[in-house]
Amino acid sequence: MTITLHKNDLPAGISFGDSVAVDTETLGLSLTRDPLCLVQLSAGDGHAHLVQMDRSSYDCPNLKALLGDPSVQKIFHFARFDVAMVQKYLGVVMTPLYCTKIASKLVRTYTDRHGLKDLTRELIGKDMSKQQQSSDWGADTLSQAQQAYAASDVLYLHQLRDKLNIMLEREGRMEMAQACFDFLPNRCALDLAGWADTDIFAHS
Ligand code: MN
Repeated sequence: MTITLHKNDLPAGISFGDSVAVDTETLGLSLTRDPLCLVQLSAGDGHAHLVQMDRSSYDCPNLKALLGDPSVQKIFHFARFDVAMVQKYLGVVMTPLYCTKIASKLVRTYTDRHGLKDLTRELIGKDMSKQQQSSDWGADTLSQAQQAYAASDVLYLHQLRDKLNIMLEREGRMEMAQACFDFLPNRCALDLAGWADTDIFAHS
């Protein structure tokens, strides 16, 4: 694994091919309270790019262009949070999307363990450390351990997508998964507009 840390924006001219793994780190888990601090990206080639946000402006035209590019699939684990954060702070509605957590819930019905660590262990046979998960992502200087943790969250998403797609095809659930991925920007808009804790499809 190699890591490149960028301040404020991606440099111009970096290509991630036709799909990019994306994760974000924030000051906490609240969409209304906690700002976006870091965006991690990988082409699935073992290299991670970390972009530390300028939280005074969120001025990052190259990153916004990549995330808004409809010819590049964005792969997440639990896209619902990251997609909402990107909609709120970067003003970009990302599409097309893939979420490994949704895919996992649709095919790994033999378990209720759908965390990234669980998926990576079962489908790729790799153990991930989650030690730096709760750390200060708003710090000016990110430690080596924080950078390694942030990078590890995007390194395996391509491999996971490929494994999960095989299972989705096997179970005849690919169309259902795609419909969920396509609905995500709307689900995130509802979250941001105040319906985060409401299942609007529920009877009551
Ligand atoms: Mn993460």
